[in-house]
Amino acid sequence: MDPSAPPQSLAELDEQVTHCRACPRLVAWREEAARVKRRAYQDWDYWARPIPGFGPPDAALVLVGLAPAAHGGNRTGRIFTGDSSGDLLYATLHRLGLASRAESVRAGDGLELSGVRITDPVRCAPPDNRPNPDERDTCRPWLAREFEFLRPTVRSVVALGGFAWQALLPVLTAAGYAVPRPRPAFGHAAHIVLAHTDGGPPLHLFGCYHVSPRNTFTGRLTTEMLTDLLRSAAETAGLTLSG
Ligand code: SF4
Repeated sequence: MDPSAPPQSLAELDEQVTHCRACPRLVAWREEAARVKRRAYQDWDYWARPIPGFGPPDAALVLVGLAPAAHGGNRTGRIFTGDSSGDLLYATLHRLGLASRAESVRAGDGLELSGVRITDPVRCAPPDNRPNPDERDTCRPWLAREFEFLRPTVRSVVALGGFAWQALLPVLTAAGYAVPRPRPAFGHAAHIVLAHTDGGPPLHLFGCYHVSPRNTFTGRLTTEMLTDLLRSAAETAGLTLSG
């Protein structure tokens, strides 16, 4: 993040992050994936830059994943898009009435989210989908700033997987939420209410297994489990659902 030009809005933050080159290994990987491509995507002009969060700036519910996939978000320019993880996530949000369509194709395809924003603690595609701790920490200011802008409206956050959970806790502490010590452990359907130290509205933190093929193909995370979890988090945040 450029400290000389701090973003004044979430839209500015979303634009600024797309220019970040702070992690040499991830910059090289995202650009290499765009050069080599996957056979099925030879006709695509890959995004090959950091992926901003997606969803309205006054979201009440925030979903936090891990990092974009080299041939998913790194190709399409939108978070959780272009792979099976995204297919399940957007279809579930659509069923609940939180997404205008069941499919997300690419940035700029007209899809809109209602009351929910999706973001990642690491914005560039990492090799083997595994950012290292230095990269996670280097990217943290982007997520922290995003939560500052969302603070007036956000009431529930869902950590999709243990990486998101661990990455979120210091961000929420910095945002003024009273994260218990020792830090709460991640688990599917974990639900912790975090008071704010200024007496403002609390934040409901939910754990959910990541929507990765490793979890969904093995049945560790079923569509029903994901739907129930997102419904609970959305209703807790005060959102009105249709499904
Ligand atoms: Fe920048 Fe985050 Fe990408 Fe690193 S992972 S280059 S900090 S946007």
